[in-house]
Amino acid sequence: MPSRTDAEALDRADPLRDLRSRFMLRHGLIYLDGNSLGPLPVGVRERVAAVVDLEWGRDLITSWNTHDWIGLPARVGAKIARLIGAPADCVVAGDSTSVQLFKLVVAAARLRPDRRVVVTEPDNFPTDSYMIAAAARLCGLQVRLCDPLDVPASLAADVSVVALTHVDYRTGRMYDAAAVTAAAHDVGALMSWDLCHSAGAVRVDLDEWDADLAVGCGYKYLNGGPGAPAFAYVHRRWHDDLDQPLAGWMGHAAPFALEHDYRPAPGIARLQTGTPSVISMAVLDAALDAFEGVTMDELRVKSLALTDLFIALADERLATHGVTVEVPRDHRHRGSQVCLRHPHAYGLVQALIARGVVGDFREPDLARFGFSPLYLRFVDVWDAAEHLAEVLESREWERPAYQARATVT
Ligand SMILES: *Cc1c(COP(=O)(O)O)cnc(C)c1O
Repeated sequence: MPSRTDAEALDRADPLRDLRSRFMLRHGLIYLDGNSLGPLPVGVRERVAAVVDLEWGRDLITSWNTHDWIGLPARVGAKIARLIGAPADCVVAGDSTSVQLFKLVVAAARLRPDRRVVVTEPDNFPTDSYMIAAAARLCGLQVRLCDPLDVPASLAADVSVVALTHVDYRTGRMYDAAAVTAAAHDVGALMSWDLCHSAGAVRVDLDEWDADLAVGCGYKYLNGGPGAPAFAYVHRRWHDDLDQPLAGWMGHAAPFALEHDYRPAPGIARLQTGTPSVISMAVLDAALDAFEGVTMDELRVKSLALTDLFIALADERLATHGVTVEVPRDHRHRGSQVCLRHPHAYGLVQALIARGVVGDFREPDLARFGFSPLYLRFVDVWDAAEHLAEVLESREWERPAYQARATVT
């Protein structure tokens, strides 16, 4: 079994170890929840202060031009593009993941007007299921649920779009995205990927996968802060024909011509709807600098090493306490998180949080731990497993204080 000394040796040999200094992390905290809300990157505070004091406070309305506020959705989109294997001009930031997904599913249905089915998975993230259902209602489509382990079985010539989440938010299971995309294309459907638990954590190659559409979240592994803008990707082949349902003035070809009728902007810009949230967008922009000079390939190597270590420790030390590891063992199907199943997962997570090890709980019995390769150390992984073993041995999770449920879990 790996010892703490082994973990320290892994840290010394880690070529990415200095990236941790790009984040404001309280001493002693082991933060395994960057897949829910990434920590605060260094440089964000300064940027917010400048946006508020100088750009808004002093320069006021001129900042739309002089500080290029109007260009933020495209600039931030271009920064994200590098992390998801997309051309810079095929990604735009804005809205929330829910809204972006709705826009893309409707737009996809309109690109395949003769087809009546949208395919998704039964255990998709709830907002994805809701928005896909809402889009289907609007477009008169039927929702077909596929088996995530056999997507092609649900595909036929009646499918307009296949909308799946690349890494499952609970189990961390990851699709073979290139293969699934090819299967969707084989029946003439469009492929849309939700990258909420992928962007910034695992290798995503939208171009190589030949994906049509994608959405993702700014506040998880991209560390853009609570409620950060989301992003959307559209393959260049659809730019001219994309007809999205929330066609507001920021997606107009000439927003400030204030024309009576809508004319979509060329390219990805037509996906925009209303005025961008400038302060949130600036935060995300500054936060993305934490990825400067690093490739997703390098991050993926470390991410797998972190989850490998945690899984090995869980097998050795936690299985005897009735804990099972839910994430796939196969690297090709594993995201950047590990889920542990235990009947008292809620109390376990609360007891860990009290010890400074922050993960989260997902219904009904999952303790979920996200491993961001940007700032986590191998000793953090080792210490987290040690704390968990102690909590299980002492039955600390039984304390009444660890049973009370808060609104957000
Ligand atoms: C986090 C997450 C979302 C969040 O959607 P919002 O609209 O940003 O609240 C959506 N889908 C998936 C798969 C997620 O993991």
